[in-house]
Amino acid sequence: MKLDYLSNDLDTTNNERSIKIFRCIRWVNGVYCPKCRSFEINNRGTYGNLNRYTCKNCNNNFNDFTRTMFHKSKISLGEIFYILNNLGNKSIKEMSEELNCSRQSIHRISRLFNEELDKKN
Ligand SMILES: [Zn+2]
Repeated sequence: MKLDYLSNDLDTTNNERSIKIFRCIRWVNGVYCPKCRSFEINNRGTYGNLNRYTCKNCNNNFNDFTRTMFHKSKISLGEIFYILNNLGNKSIKEMSEELNCSRQSIHRISRLFNEELDKKN
């Protein structure tokens, strides 16, 4: 099953791999400007693992995470995927010890994710 495959892929703290998966999902129809929605964009190289872009239409600069819940997160995307994938199976305390990050950070990811889900419904 394709979904099982994806789910196994998401159960990883491998940040580079997680960003590749994220990019496939976010830009499934091609990269577009989050400000004016134009698909006319220039690649502007990378910043860490993220791709950077400039909109040819409105000159807006953005990257893979712009205007998503992952923007400016202190926890890596790989770790965020790991948290989301394990919210039902593991306690916040367990995950905070495994990932060596605070319980508040994990609470925050959980809350942001639920807010995003609510927005889409
Ligand atoms: Zn634009």
